[in-house]
Amino acid sequence: MERLTKNTIDNHYDMIIIGGGITGASVAYEASSRGLKVALFEKGDFGEATSAATSKLIHGGLRYLKNMEFALVRESLTERRTLENIAPNFVYPIPFMIPTYKNLKNNKSVLTMGMVLYDILSYDKAFTWDASKKLPLHKNIGKNLTHNLEPFIKTQKLTGSSIFYDCQNINPERLTLSMIKSAIHHGAKVANYSKIQSFIKEENKIKGVNIHDQINDNTYGVTADIVINCTGPWSDFVLNNAAKGHDNNHHIRRSEGIHIITKKLCREHTISLMTENGRHLLFIPWRGHTIIGTTDKTYKGNPDDYKVSKKSIMELLEEINQIYGEEKISYDDILFAYGGMRPLVDNQTEGSYSSSRKYEINDNSKDGLDGLFSVEGGKYTTSRKLAAQLLKKVAKKWHRNLGKSTTDKVFLKDSAIKDMPAFIKDLEEKYPVFSKDTIHYLGNNYGERCHEIFQLAMDEPELQEVVSVDGEILAEVVFVIENEMVFKLSDIIFRRTGIGTLGYPGDKIFNTVVQKVKELMKWNDAKIKTEVKQVMAIFKKPE
Ligand SMILES: Cc1cc2nc3c(=O)[nH]c(=O)nc-3n(C[C@H](O)[C@H](O)[C@H](O)COP(=O)(O)OP(=O)(O)OC[C@H]3O[C@@H](n4cnc5c(N)ncnc54)[C@H](O)[C@@H]3O)c2cc1C
Repeated sequence: MERLTKNTIDNHYDMIIIGGGITGASVAYEASSRGLKVALFEKGDFGEATSAATSKLIHGGLRYLKNMEFALVRESLTERRTLENIAPNFVYPIPFMIPTYKNLKNNKSVLTMGMVLYDILSYDKAFTWDASKKLPLHKNIGKNLTHNLEPFIKTQKLTGSSIFYDCQNINPERLTLSMIKSAIHHGAKVANYSKIQSFIKEENKIKGVNIHDQINDNTYGVTADIVINCTGPWSDFVLNNAAKGHDNNHHIRRSEGIHIITKKLCREHTISLMTENGRHLLFIPWRGHTIIGTTDKTYKGNPDDYKVSKKSIMELLEEINQIYGEEKISYDDILFAYGGMRPLVDNQTEGSYSSSRKYEINDNSKDGLDGLFSVEGGKYTTSRKLAAQLLKKVAKKWHRNLGKSTTDKVFLKDSAIKDMPAFIKDLEEKYPVFSKDTIHYLGNNYGERCHEIFQLAMDEPELQEVVSVDGEILAEVVFVIENEMVFKLSDIIFRRTGIGTLGYPGDKIFNTVVQKVKELMKWNDAKIKTEVKQVMAIFKKPE
C-alpha cells in the first residue's frame, strides 16, 4: 500500500473523500471501481474511529422491526448476504439466542412474529456463494435445551428461547482495510494521518481541500470535481469548516456506545438479554472471550476528546448484573473496554436507543456548498450499499452515466475464497508446523495473503513465536509493517493485528512485539518510549 503524499499527489481528482472509516473506504472502492480518479484522506489511521467500535455484527437488526423499518431491515439483510459473499474470510453466520421468561416484557408471541418476519425479509439467505455461509431459519427451543446450550443465563422463570441467525464480522478493522485495498486495486490513492484542514473555495463552490500530512509535517492542496464528507461523528465539524464565512451552523447528535471484553461467558450463541429499561444487551462470543454491549447515551462533547469513562463502564456493569446469571461481573473482570459514537440523523431529542440507523446522503449545495456531499448515520453493514447510492446521486448531479455497481458481485481484494472450510483445510495440510489456532487466525484475517506470513515464519523460525491467546504469530508484525501503511505502534497492535484487542497481552508478548517493531521501524529509544506510552494509555482501564 503506497501512501499519497505532497510529492505523489496529482493536481486534480474526480472525487476526494474525507474519512477512512468503513463509509469512506466503501465510497472509495465504489467510485474507483466505476473508473473515477479518487483520493481519500484519513486524519488518523484507517478504521480507527466508529468503525472499530462496533458490536462486530453484520446484521439486519431484528429490533428495528419494532419501529416498522422494513425497508431498512431488508436492505441490511441483503447487504449481510453480500458481505458474506464478497468478504468470506471476515463474515460468518452466528446463532443468536433470546431467552424468554415468565412475566417479562419479552413476549413470546410478539418475538415469534418478529422472527417469522425476519425470515421472510431474508428469504434469499440460502443463496450464498459459499455453502458454509447459509443461514438457517429461526427456531424455538425449551428451557432445558436453552440451559444446556448456554448454562450461564438465569434459569429462574426461564421458559425457553428463540434461536435465529445473523452474521459476525470477526475483524471490522481489517475489513475496512480490505475495502481500502480494493479501492487501491482500482487506482484510488489514499493517505492515513492526513487531516483535511480547510477547503479550497470559489464563492460558494467547493473546489478542493487543504491537507495537513502529519507524518511528513507539511501541508498541500488538491482540487476535485466533488468532495465527499464521510467523517461520521465529525461530519458537522467538517461541514462547518466548509461553510466558514457563511451563515451556517450544522449540528448532528452523537450517541455513545461502549463494549467490555471479559473471559468466555457464553459458548456459541450471541445472547440477547433485556435490561430493566427495555434495551437489549448482547453477550457476544469472540476469540474465546465475550464482548458485552452496547450502551446508547447522548454524547455532547467534541468527538476528538471522546474516550470511554469509568462512569460509562460502571453504568453498563450495573445493567449487566441486573440481568446476567448467578455470578456477578466486577470491574476487575474487564479485560478491555472500547467505545465510539453514533451519528444520528433523525430529529428525536430523547434517548437515542430507538433512533433510526438509516443513513442520509446530502448534496450540500442546498446549504450553499456546491461540490460537497455529506453522508450521515448508517450501519457498518450497509456501507457498501450507501456507497452505491451515493454514486447514483453523483451521476445524476453530473448528468453522467457512471455505470452500475458491481461491488456486490466480486470478492474484495485478497478475499477470493470460494469455500472457506476447504481453504482452511488446505492451509492445515500445507503448513503442518503451525497450530490450528494460527492457521485459522491467519487464514481468516489475512485471506489469500496469509501464505506470505506463513512463508516469513518458515524462513525465519523466530517469527513463529505466538503473540496472542488465539495463535497470532510474530511474522504478522513483519508483514503488516512491510505491506500495510503503518506508522504507529497502535496501528500494529490494535488494527492490523489483534494482539491488543483482547486487552494487554502480558509483558512477555508485549516486549517481544515492541522490540520487533522498534527494529523494523528503525525507531530510537525516545520514539519507542513515546509510542509505548500511547499504547499503554489505551490498555489502561479508566479510573
Ligand atoms: C457502539 C456501536 C456499535 C455498533 N455496532 C454495529 C454493528 O454491530 N454492526 C453495524 O453494522 N454497525 C454498527 N455500528 C454502526 C457503525 O459502526 C457505523 O455505522 C460505521 O462505523 C460508521 O463508519 P464511518 O466511516 O461513517 O465513521 P467512522 O468510522 O467514525 O469514520 C470517520 C472517519 O473520519 C475521520 N475524519 C474526521 N474528520 C476528518 C478530517 N478533518 N480529515 C480527515 N479525516 C477525518 C475520522 O478520523 C474517522 O476515522 C455501531 C456503532 C456504534 C457506535
